[in-house]
Amino acid sequence: MSSRMRTACLRVSSILASAAVALAALSLETHLMAQVRKEWKIHDLDRPQPPIVGPGTASTQDQPGRPPSDAIVLFDGKDLSRWRSGSDEPAKWKVEGGYMETVKGSGYIHTAQPFGDCQLHVEWRAPVPPVGEGQGRGNSGVYLMGKYEIQVLDSHQNKTYPDGQASAVYGQYPPLVNASRPPGEWQTYDIVFHRPRFDSAGKLLRPARVTVLHNGVLVQDNVELTGPTDHMRRPPYAAHPDKLPFSLQDHANPVRFRNIWIRELAEDDS
Ligand code: MG
Repeated sequence: MSSRMRTACLRVSSILASAAVALAALSLETHLMAQVRKEWKIHDLDRPQPPIVGPGTASTQDQPGRPPSDAIVLFDGKDLSRWRSGSDEPAKWKVEGGYMETVKGSGYIHTAQPFGDCQLHVEWRAPVPPVGEGQGRGNSGVYLMGKYEIQVLDSHQNKTYPDGQASAVYGQYPPLVNASRPPGEWQTYDIVFHRPRFDSAGKLLRPARVTVLHNGVLVQDNVELTGPTDHMRRPPYAAHPDKLPFSLQDHANPVRFRNIWIRELAEDDS
């Protein structure tokens, strides 16, 4: 090939590469624009106002805060009327002093109501003085849809495998940081969960995603779950209903919970 032809070829391939970059950028821009609802102009005053929600108050160590006004309160310290054990029996955990406590051997408890996409607030407290070590110290868990565990563990000066410490997506994602408080202090989880999507044949369309703040600190940043969580294995997704109860784990440690509320999120899959 002559040097003139080589130069021409290089020029053409450079033009093609630039065009590909421009097309990719255009495609991304089109995709992003598609996410902005087209029926409203920018700054359109006719666009519906967001609903007004009373934001509630933060908890202190002594007192649980007030949930947002549109939250479904699942536990306010008084009773387990919104919780069930086994298939559909009254929840067998202990309630006293404004908290519920795991009763060893009584099994997981789950909400009577099923949920899908949600914002979930849970407060928990590991036993003091701490007993046991690793996975045996203050272990419980928040099982979203009964399948996807955000680990509850006393991770204050208690080493374990990182994808099994407090606020880990169990067996999948360690928290970004360890924001644990010492045992005996109340801790908060604020969880934003988007359930997996399946088509009518049960094929996975989109994995579940979760964001978690532990004591107000970001620890899971919109991570994509590989499937249900489990010990020593990562099972694949299996199609399940759009809404399922979430559960709290009995791992034989007397972990306490208080101030549990949830906000269902609109599932706009358009
Ligand atoms: Mg656990």
